[in-house]
Amino acid sequence: MDDASHDIFINSDDIAFSFVFEGAAVRGELVRLGPATADDIITRHDLPDELGRLLGEMLALSALCGASLKFNGRMIVELRSEYQNEETPLEFIVAEFNTDGTLRGMVKRRPVFYDEFANSGLAHTLPNLFGMGILLITIDQGTNMERYQGQVAIEADKISDLAETYFMQSEQIPSKIILAARKSDDKHAEWSSYGFMIQRVAADSARGVTEDLWDEAVIKFETLSPDELLDREIPPGEILHRLYHENEIMVFKPKYLLARCTCNREKLVLLMSQMPKEDTEFLIENDGQIHARCEFCNTTYHIDPSELKL
Ligand SMILES: [Zn+2]
Repeated sequence: MDDASHDIFINSDDIAFSFVFEGAAVRGELVRLGPATADDIITRHDLPDELGRLLGEMLALSALCGASLKFNGRMIVELRSEYQNEETPLEFIVAEFNTDGTLRGMVKRRPVFYDEFANSGLAHTLPNLFGMGILLITIDQGTNMERYQGQVAIEADKISDLAETYFMQSEQIPSKIILAARKSDDKHAEWSSYGFMIQRVAADSARGVTEDLWDEAVIKFETLSPDELLDREIPPGEILHRLYHENEIMVFKPKYLLARCTCNREKLVLLMSQMPKEDTEFLIENDGQIHARCEFCNTTYHIDPSELKL
Protein backbone atom coordinates (compact mmCIF):
# COMPACT_ATOMS: atom_id res chain seq x y z
CA MET A 1 0.00 0.00 0.00
CA ASP A 2 1.19 3.50 -0.70
CA ASP A 3 1.24 6.75 1.27
CA ALA A 4 -2.28 7.81 0.23
CA SER A 5 -3.57 5.02 2.43
CA HIS A 6 -2.16 6.40 5.66
CA ASP A 7 -5.48 7.88 6.86
CA ILE A 8 -7.31 4.59 6.67
CA PHE A 9 -5.06 3.14 9.37
CA ILE A 10 -6.06 5.83 11.79
CA ASN A 11 -9.25 4.64 13.39
CA SER A 12 -11.41 6.93 11.39
CA ASP A 13 -15.17 6.92 11.02
CA ASP A 14 -17.25 8.40 8.24
CA ILE A 15 -14.85 7.45 5.51
CA ALA A 16 -15.04 5.78 2.08
CA PHE A 17 -12.21 4.72 -0.16
CA SER A 18 -11.55 2.68 -3.30
CA PHE A 19 -8.76 0.22 -3.91
CA VAL A 20 -7.52 -1.90 -6.81
CA PHE A 21 -5.53 -5.11 -6.99
CA GLU A 22 -2.31 -5.59 -8.93
CA GLY A 23 -2.99 -5.31 -12.65
CA ALA A 24 -6.43 -3.88 -11.83
CA ALA A 25 -8.25 -7.21 -12.21
CA VAL A 26 -10.21 -6.66 -9.01
CA ARG A 27 -11.43 -3.39 -7.57
CA GLY A 28 -13.18 -2.59 -4.32
CA GLU A 29 -14.72 -0.07 -1.97
CA LEU A 30 -14.75 0.16 1.76
CA VAL A 31 -17.10 2.41 3.74
CA ARG A 32 -17.40 3.02 7.45
CA LEU A 33 -20.18 5.27 8.69
CA GLY A 34 -20.18 6.56 12.25
CA PRO A 35 -21.10 9.62 14.33
CA ALA A 36 -21.19 12.17 11.48
CA THR A 37 -23.27 10.00 9.16
CA ALA A 38 -25.03 6.78 10.27
CA ASP A 39 -25.58 7.87 13.87
CA ASP A 40 -26.67 11.39 12.93
CA ILE A 41 -29.15 10.14 10.32
CA ILE A 42 -30.62 7.17 12.20
CA THR A 43 -31.10 8.95 15.53
CA ARG A 44 -33.03 11.79 13.86
CA HIS A 45 -35.82 9.27 13.41
CA ASP A 46 -37.47 7.41 16.22
CA LEU A 47 -36.84 3.94 14.81
CA PRO A 48 -36.96 0.48 16.34
CA ASP A 49 -33.48 -1.09 16.27
CA GLU A 50 -34.41 -3.52 13.47
CA LEU A 51 -35.29 -0.60 11.18
CA GLY A 52 -32.26 1.42 12.30
CA ARG A 53 -30.06 -1.50 11.25
CA LEU A 54 -31.67 -1.70 7.80
CA LEU A 55 -31.32 2.06 7.29
CA GLY A 56 -27.67 1.81 8.39
CA GLU A 57 -27.00 -0.91 5.82
CA MET A 58 -28.77 1.06 3.08
CA LEU A 59 -26.67 4.15 3.88
CA ALA A 60 -23.52 2.04 3.63
CA LEU A 61 -24.73 0.61 0.30
CA SER A 62 -25.40 4.08 -1.13
CA ALA A 63 -21.85 5.14 -0.23
CA LEU A 64 -20.35 1.88 -1.59
CA CYS A 65 -22.08 2.41 -4.92
CA GLY A 66 -21.65 6.17 -5.05
CA ALA A 67 -18.17 6.88 -3.71
CA SER A 68 -16.43 6.03 -6.98
CA LEU A 69 -18.75 8.01 -9.30
CA LYS A 70 -16.70 10.20 -11.61
CA PHE A 71 -19.23 13.02 -11.99
CA ASN A 72 -21.24 15.25 -9.67
CA GLY A 73 -24.53 13.69 -8.78
CA ARG A 74 -26.39 11.35 -6.47
CA MET A 75 -26.60 7.62 -5.92
CA ILE A 76 -30.02 6.72 -4.55
CA VAL A 77 -30.71 3.22 -3.24
CA GLU A 78 -34.24 2.34 -2.23
CA LEU A 79 -36.07 -0.71 -0.94
CA ARG A 80 -39.64 -0.27 -2.10
CA SER A 81 -42.74 -2.25 -1.21
CA GLU A 82 -44.72 -4.45 -3.53
CA TYR A 83 -46.38 -2.55 -6.37
CA GLN A 84 -49.92 -1.43 -5.54
CA ASN A 85 -49.91 -3.21 -2.20
CA GLU A 86 -50.65 -0.57 0.42
CA GLU A 87 -50.74 -2.94 3.34
CA THR A 88 -47.07 -3.84 3.73
CA PRO A 89 -45.49 -2.73 7.06
CA LEU A 90 -43.01 -0.49 5.24
CA GLU A 91 -43.50 1.72 2.21
CA PHE A 92 -39.82 2.31 1.53
CA ILE A 93 -36.33 2.75 2.95
CA VAL A 94 -34.20 5.17 0.97
CA ALA A 95 -30.58 6.26 1.27
CA GLU A 96 -28.92 8.92 -0.86
CA PHE A 97 -25.23 9.50 -1.35
CA ASN A 98 -24.20 12.79 -2.89
CA THR A 99 -20.80 12.90 -4.61
CA ASP A 100 -19.86 15.89 -2.41
CA GLY A 101 -19.64 13.26 0.35
CA THR A 102 -22.97 13.96 2.04
CA LEU A 103 -25.66 11.42 2.88
CA ARG A 104 -29.27 11.35 3.94
CA GLY A 105 -31.84 8.62 4.40
CA MET A 106 -35.22 7.71 5.81
CA VAL A 107 -37.62 4.87 6.55
CA LYS A 108 -41.28 5.28 5.62
CA ARG A 109 -43.57 3.12 7.70
CA ARG A 110 -47.27 2.46 7.21
CA PRO A 111 -48.08 3.15 10.86
CA VAL A 112 -51.13 0.90 11.31
CA PHE A 113 -49.67 -2.02 9.37
CA TYR A 114 -46.22 -1.65 10.86
CA ASP A 115 -47.54 -1.64 14.44
CA GLU A 116 -49.65 -4.68 13.72
CA PHE A 117 -46.62 -6.41 12.21
CA ALA A 118 -44.34 -5.44 15.11
CA ASN A 119 -46.86 -6.84 17.61
CA SER A 120 -47.23 -10.07 15.67
CA GLY A 121 -43.70 -11.15 16.56
CA LEU A 122 -42.85 -11.89 12.92
CA ALA A 123 -39.19 -11.38 12.01
CA HIS A 124 -38.10 -8.15 10.30
CA THR A 125 -37.11 -9.90 7.08
CA LEU A 126 -37.19 -7.96 3.83
CA PRO A 127 -40.00 -10.08 2.31
CA ASN A 128 -42.06 -9.67 5.51
CA LEU A 129 -41.54 -5.89 5.48
CA PHE A 130 -41.94 -5.17 1.77
CA GLY A 131 -43.82 -8.09 0.25
CA MET A 132 -42.75 -8.71 -3.33
CA GLY A 133 -40.89 -5.42 -3.42
CA ILE A 134 -37.77 -4.23 -5.20
CA LEU A 135 -34.33 -2.78 -4.61
CA LEU A 136 -34.19 0.23 -6.88
CA ILE A 137 -30.89 1.91 -7.74
CA THR A 138 -30.87 5.36 -9.33
CA ILE A 139 -27.92 7.35 -10.57
CA ASP A 140 -28.86 11.00 -10.80
CA GLN A 141 -26.39 13.14 -12.75
CA GLY A 142 -28.22 16.39 -12.04
CA THR A 143 -30.73 18.48 -13.91
CA ASN A 144 -30.89 18.13 -17.69
CA MET A 145 -29.15 14.76 -17.54
CA GLU A 146 -30.92 11.47 -17.99
CA ARG A 147 -31.31 9.38 -14.85
CA TYR A 148 -30.06 5.84 -14.91
CA GLN A 149 -32.26 3.38 -13.05
CA GLY A 150 -32.12 -0.37 -12.43
CA GLN A 151 -33.86 -2.76 -10.08
CA VAL A 152 -33.96 -6.28 -8.66
CA ALA A 153 -36.78 -8.12 -6.92
CA ILE A 154 -36.60 -8.65 -3.16
CA GLU A 155 -35.99 -12.37 -3.39
CA ALA A 156 -33.43 -12.64 -0.62
CA ASP A 157 -33.37 -11.44 2.94
CA LYS A 158 -30.02 -9.70 2.85
CA ILE A 159 -29.59 -6.28 1.26
CA SER A 160 -26.05 -7.31 0.28
CA ASP A 161 -27.39 -10.34 -1.64
CA LEU A 162 -29.85 -8.12 -3.52
CA ALA A 163 -27.07 -5.68 -4.40
CA GLU A 164 -24.83 -8.51 -5.67
CA THR A 165 -27.69 -9.73 -7.88
CA TYR A 166 -28.25 -6.17 -9.09
CA PHE A 167 -24.62 -5.76 -10.19
CA MET A 168 -24.65 -9.14 -11.93
CA GLN A 169 -27.97 -8.66 -13.72
CA SER A 170 -27.81 -4.97 -14.58
CA GLU A 171 -24.11 -4.44 -15.10
CA GLN A 172 -22.72 -7.97 -15.56
CA ILE A 173 -20.17 -7.27 -12.84
CA PRO A 174 -19.45 -10.16 -10.45
CA SER A 175 -19.44 -8.57 -6.99
CA LYS A 176 -19.13 -9.60 -3.38
CA ILE A 177 -20.72 -7.28 -0.84
CA ILE A 178 -20.98 -7.32 2.91
CA LEU A 179 -23.05 -4.79 4.85
CA ALA A 180 -23.42 -4.47 8.59
CA ALA A 181 -24.92 -1.98 11.03
CA ARG A 182 -25.39 -1.84 14.76
CA LYS A 183 -26.08 0.35 17.75
CA SER A 184 -23.38 0.26 20.42
CA ASP A 185 -24.51 -1.36 23.66
CA ASP A 186 -22.77 1.21 25.87
CA LYS A 187 -24.46 4.33 27.27
CA HIS A 188 -23.89 6.24 24.02
CA ALA A 189 -26.08 3.83 22.00
CA GLU A 190 -24.34 5.09 18.90
CA TRP A 191 -25.09 3.78 15.42
CA SER A 192 -22.41 2.75 12.98
CA SER A 193 -22.48 0.85 9.72
CA TYR A 194 -20.07 -0.73 7.34
CA GLY A 195 -19.91 -1.70 3.70
CA PHE A 196 -17.22 -3.65 1.93
CA MET A 197 -17.34 -4.63 -1.73
CA ILE A 198 -15.04 -6.26 -4.25
CA GLN A 199 -15.79 -6.43 -7.96
CA ARG A 200 -14.21 -8.35 -10.78
CA VAL A 201 -12.99 -6.17 -13.59
CA ALA A 202 -13.48 -7.77 -17.02
CA ALA A 203 -10.41 -9.42 -18.52
CA ASP A 204 -8.77 -7.68 -21.47
CA SER A 205 -5.42 -7.79 -23.24
CA ALA A 206 -3.81 -5.48 -20.69
CA ARG A 207 -5.12 -7.27 -17.64
CA GLY A 208 -4.89 -10.83 -18.98
CA VAL A 209 -6.89 -13.54 -17.29
CA THR A 210 -8.49 -12.18 -14.12
CA GLU A 211 -10.27 -15.31 -12.97
CA ASP A 212 -7.68 -16.78 -10.60
CA LEU A 213 -7.09 -13.52 -8.82
CA TRP A 214 -10.85 -12.97 -8.49
CA ASP A 215 -11.41 -16.48 -7.07
CA GLU A 216 -8.65 -15.93 -4.57
CA ALA A 217 -10.04 -12.51 -3.59
CA VAL A 218 -13.50 -14.03 -3.04
CA ILE A 219 -12.19 -16.85 -0.82
CA LYS A 220 -10.47 -14.31 1.41
CA PHE A 221 -13.48 -11.99 1.34
CA GLU A 222 -15.68 -14.77 2.66
CA THR A 223 -13.58 -15.14 5.80
CA LEU A 224 -14.72 -11.68 6.90
CA SER A 225 -17.44 -11.48 9.53
CA PRO A 226 -19.84 -8.59 10.25
CA ASP A 227 -18.55 -8.52 13.85
CA GLU A 228 -15.02 -7.93 12.62
CA LEU A 229 -16.24 -5.10 10.39
CA LEU A 230 -18.17 -3.44 13.18
CA ASP A 231 -15.33 -3.60 15.69
CA ARG A 232 -14.39 0.07 16.06
CA GLU A 233 -10.99 -0.88 17.43
CA ILE A 234 -10.06 -2.13 13.97
CA PRO A 235 -9.34 0.70 11.50
CA PRO A 236 -10.70 0.20 7.98
CA GLY A 237 -7.19 -0.07 6.53
CA GLU A 238 -6.46 -2.89 8.94
CA ILE A 239 -9.46 -4.86 7.64
CA LEU A 240 -8.13 -4.54 4.11
CA HIS A 241 -4.61 -5.43 5.20
CA ARG A 242 -5.74 -8.51 7.15
CA LEU A 243 -7.54 -9.88 4.13
CA TYR A 244 -5.26 -8.92 1.29
CA HIS A 245 -1.75 -8.37 2.68
CA GLU A 246 -0.41 -11.01 0.28
CA ASN A 247 -1.68 -9.03 -2.70
CA GLU A 248 -0.37 -5.84 -4.10
CA ILE A 249 -3.10 -3.28 -3.42
CA MET A 250 -3.32 0.35 -4.38
CA VAL A 251 -5.57 2.51 -2.20
CA PHE A 252 -7.06 5.76 -3.47
CA LYS A 253 -7.40 8.89 -1.41
CA PRO A 254 -10.26 8.48 1.08
CA LYS A 255 -13.38 10.64 1.04
CA TYR A 256 -14.75 11.99 4.30
CA LEU A 257 -18.49 11.75 4.68
CA LEU A 258 -21.12 13.81 6.45
CA ALA A 259 -24.88 13.69 7.02
CA ARG A 260 -26.56 16.58 5.29
CA CYS A 261 -30.06 16.98 3.92
CA THR A 262 -30.77 18.87 0.73
CA CYS A 263 -33.87 20.56 2.15
CA ASN A 264 -33.85 24.26 3.02
CA ARG A 265 -36.30 26.93 4.00
CA GLU A 266 -35.96 29.03 0.85
CA LYS A 267 -36.65 26.08 -1.44
CA LEU A 268 -39.66 25.08 0.63
CA VAL A 269 -41.16 28.59 0.62
CA LEU A 270 -40.68 28.78 -3.14
CA LEU A 271 -42.33 25.38 -3.63
CA MET A 272 -45.30 26.31 -1.43
CA SER A 273 -45.72 29.65 -3.20
CA GLN A 274 -46.29 27.70 -6.39
CA MET A 275 -49.00 25.49 -4.88
CA PRO A 276 -52.71 26.31 -5.41
CA LYS A 277 -53.89 28.78 -2.76
CA GLU A 278 -56.56 26.44 -1.34
CA ASP A 279 -53.95 23.72 -0.80
CA THR A 280 -51.64 25.93 1.24
CA GLU A 281 -54.53 27.49 3.19
CA PHE A 282 -55.46 23.99 4.22
CA LEU A 283 -52.03 23.60 5.85
CA ILE A 284 -52.38 26.60 8.16
CA GLU A 285 -52.62 25.42 11.75
CA ASN A 286 -54.33 26.92 14.80
CA ASP A 287 -51.41 29.21 15.57
CA GLY A 288 -51.79 30.77 12.11
CA GLN A 289 -48.58 29.20 10.79
CA ILE A 290 -47.63 26.36 8.52
CA HIS A 291 -45.37 23.74 10.09
CA ALA A 292 -43.69 21.76 7.37
CA ARG A 293 -41.48 18.84 8.32
CA CYS A 294 -38.82 17.34 6.07
CA GLU A 295 -39.26 13.59 6.31
CA PHE A 296 -35.60 12.97 5.52
CA CYS A 297 -33.99 14.92 8.33
CA ASN A 298 -36.98 15.58 10.58
CA THR A 299 -36.39 19.34 10.53
CA THR A 300 -39.60 21.34 11.00
CA TYR A 301 -39.85 24.67 9.21
CA HIS A 302 -42.26 27.25 10.58
CA ILE A 303 -43.64 29.34 7.77
CA ASP A 304 -45.85 32.35 8.06
CA PRO A 305 -48.54 32.39 5.31
CA SER A 306 -47.59 36.01 4.53
CA GLU A 307 -44.26 34.67 3.21
CA LEU A 308 -46.17 32.75 0.55
CA LYS A 309 -47.95 35.83 -0.80
CA LEU A 310 -51.29 34.02 -0.54
ZN1 LIG B 1 -34.36 17.67 5.24
